[in-house]
Amino acid sequence: MADSLQKFLFEDSAVRGELVDVSATWQQVQQHRQYPQAVKTVLGEMLSAAALLSANLKFNGAIVMQIHGDGPVKLLVVECDSDLNLRATAKLAEDAIVDDHASLTDLVNAQGNGRFVITLDPKDKLPGQQAYQGIVPLVGESVAVVIENYMLRSEQLDTKLWLAADDSVARGLLLQKLPREGGTPGTSGDTDDLATWDRSVMLAQTLRREELLSTDVETLMRRLFWEETIRLFDARHPQFQCTCTREKVGTMLKMLGEEEVASAVEELGKLEIDCDFCGQHYEFDRVDCAQLFAVESPVETLLPANQNKH
Ligand SMILES: [Zn+2]
Repeated sequence: MADSLQKFLFEDSAVRGELVDVSATWQQVQQHRQYPQAVKTVLGEMLSAAALLSANLKFNGAIVMQIHGDGPVKLLVVECDSDLNLRATAKLAEDAIVDDHASLTDLVNAQGNGRFVITLDPKDKLPGQQAYQGIVPLVGESVAVVIENYMLRSEQLDTKLWLAADDSVARGLLLQKLPREGGTPGTSGDTDDLATWDRSVMLAQTLRREELLSTDVETLMRRLFWEETIRLFDARHPQFQCTCTREKVGTMLKMLGEEEVASAVEELGKLEIDCDFCGQHYEFDRVDCAQLFAVESPVETLLPANQNKH
C-alpha cells in the first residue's frame, strides 16, 4: 500500500484537517537501523507530523524537524520537502539503555535541556536568503503536544495533532483553525468557525492510539466525521527519499579540515562513511581525499568570491 495524505476542509468554515499514513516510508526509514521500541514510537510520530506540516508549506523547499535531547537520545531528525519526500534518523548516546515504555521526557528531556528545532529551508534561495529556524524548549509530554505548543507560540495557529507509530505503522491526524482573512472578531462567521473547531476537536478526541494504528485513512475519515460536510482534496503520496550524495559527504569531510582527514586516511587506509538516513556507503581513499583539498580549477579561482558558488 502506497502512503497517502488526505487534506480536507469543513465546508463553509476556516477549519481544515489532514489525515496521513506514512507506514511504507516508516518501514524504509528503519531498514538500515535498529531502534529501541520507545525511540520508534517518537521517531515514527515525528515522521507523521513532518508530513502533516509540510503539506501546508507555502514555499518550495523542506521542513526539518529536530529534537536535541539531553537523555539517552541525543538527536531525532525528520526532513520532509514540499513534494512529501521524507527521511528520518535518530542518534542515541553511547551505551544508552532505553526502557520500552520510556516517555518523550525520559528520552530527550530528562534534565529539562531538550530543544525542539524547526527549520524551514527554501530550495531556491535568493542571494543572502537564510533558512528560517525556530528553536524552542521542549514543552509537552508527547511529540503532538510539543508541536501544538510550537504552532501556537510561533505561528499563532490553533493546531491539534493525533499521532501514533509502532514497528510498522505511522499515522496522524491534524486539525487547524485558520484566521479568517479580513474578518472581524466576534462576527457570526467567527462564531461558526469556533463551533466547528470545538466540534471537530471533540470528535477527533474519541480517536484512540490503537484505533489510529489499526485503521486506514479512508475509514478513519468516515468514522470520525461522517456527520460533517467535508470537502476532500486530491490525495497526495508521501515517500521515502534520501538526499545524500558523494559530493555532500565530500563537503562534510572538507569541513573537518585537511590535516584531520589526511591523518585519518593515513591510519585507516580509506575513509568509510555510511549515510545515517539511508545506509548508503561512501568510500574515500587517499587520492579521493587529496582531490577534496586540491586547488579549485584556475577558471573558478579567477572569479570574484560571490560568483564562485553554484
Ligand atoms: Zn542517504
